[in-house]
Amino acid sequence: MSVGGGGLLIKNGRVIDPETGMDRAGDIYIEGGLIMSVPGAGGGAGGAGAAGATAVPGAGGATAVPGAAGGAGGTGAVAGARAVAGAGADADAEAAAGAGAPKGAAGMRIIDAGGAIVVPGLIDLHVHFREPGFCHKEDIHSGSQAAARGGYTTVCCMPNTRPAVDCAEVLSLIDAKGRDAGKVNLLVAGAMTVGQAGAELSDIDAMAEAATRCMELCGRGILALTEDGKTLSDEALMRRVAARAKGLGLMIMDHAENRNLSGDPVSTGEASRLLGMGGVPAEAEADIVRRDIKIAEEIGCRMHIQHVSAKESVALIREAKVAGLPVTAETAPHYFALTDRAVLVSGANAKMNPPLRAEEDRLAVIEGLCDGSIDIIATDHAPHGWAEKAAGIEKAPFGISGLETGFAVSYTTLVLGGYMGLRKLLARMSLRPAMLAGLPRGRIAAGAAADIAIIDIDEAYRIDSRDFASKGRNTPFSGMEARGRVKATICGGVVTYAG
Ligand SMILES: [Zn+2]
Repeated sequence: MSVGGGGLLIKNGRVIDPETGMDRAGDIYIEGGLIMSVPGAGGGAGGAGAAGATAVPGAGGATAVPGAAGGAGGTGAVAGARAVAGAGADADAEAAAGAGAPKGAAGMRIIDAGGAIVVPGLIDLHVHFREPGFCHKEDIHSGSQAAARGGYTTVCCMPNTRPAVDCAEVLSLIDAKGRDAGKVNLLVAGAMTVGQAGAELSDIDAMAEAATRCMELCGRGILALTEDGKTLSDEALMRRVAARAKGLGLMIMDHAENRNLSGDPVSTGEASRLLGMGGVPAEAEADIVRRDIKIAEEIGCRMHIQHVSAKESVALIREAKVAGLPVTAETAPHYFALTDRAVLVSGANAKMNPPLRAEEDRLAVIEGLCDGSIDIIATDHAPHGWAEKAAGIEKAPFGISGLETGFAVSYTTLVLGGYMGLRKLLARMSLRPAMLAGLPRGRIAAGAAADIAIIDIDEAYRIDSRDFASKGRNTPFSGMEARGRVKATICGGVVTYAG
């Protein structure tokens, strides 16, 4: 993905970089798929004095380059577009700095951010785009559009398609469709076992070596190994996978669920009692989290726990991190925005796996996000057809469509709810997932890839699933009053969504 000649100027934004803490009013100039300049000292409204050296972590290493003082005093259409570069060697920096100064308005596209925040494109390491096999729920094209509309510039697709992603051929097919859709950096996680049947190891080596977008960005053909939708309950086989993953530099992403303890659409608690169901105890999740942490400790593989929902799991992961184990975790917006009571209101649209839990679990998940026990927010975007979800709470499939509500629900719940600051939220949704993926993204800095979201955090709006680009309209958040509307998304310098 690269922008055509002329470049792109994003004017009048509040530019925030979660890594350096930069939070300044001003402009960003993009050319050749890269951010060429960010608001420097004196350039943007928030800059003061000439001492504002802009720390610019480039893809290959952090290089601090003082804000170029050659601007024309902060007037004119390109006032903030100062030439600051930081991609490796000084010579490169100089070259980029020269290119960064727009020569004129001809051919240059301008987006007026109108005071909205200009932040790193969001990164979601857990989505289901359903192709191949279930294109009535979603396909790679519609899923990519939903991602762009949600402010996302990178996603990682789970392998539970039909056929499953268990060999290089299926992987390559998805990769080609992702490139074709051209809206997001589409990464893929490979299945641990053939057909995710839990018996025979998948073709892990071939997938790890495949020439995919993930290879270009992260140095491996797949981002991770997972059986998502379920865990690999055969512990001996799980250990073999863990050892292979370690050897290949892949992380394990695990859907922690002991199926001997689960199966119901709701957790054990108030809602299950009212509905007359057995419910799913928190131990169904915690039991496998405990096992996975033990495997990470013994084998030394990178273990990432998916969609953490229970208080007990948060405590186990916190302990593992304190002990220095290579364990990371994600949660999804519904686990910190809702409790099991949502099932009583939204029925099957609030049915997901793991299930929504009690208020104390919700608060524990928030605490985990705040103190870093939970590293990232993923959506677990799981679109389904209308008729499937209309089959009722017991028969409907698990999951909700999440990409187009991810930021607004997170911002409204966590930041406006007073639990964390905006910078931390942005880190949980961009910088930190980039770090887990080994992806040089998630930053706003000169020399960095131009993956950007422009979001109006002041505009209140009502979420309406009928507006979704996703084929999946299944969400309990339709009707919610939220703030944090995505106005535009730019991936690799290309505008992939403009609202
Ligand atoms: Zn999933």
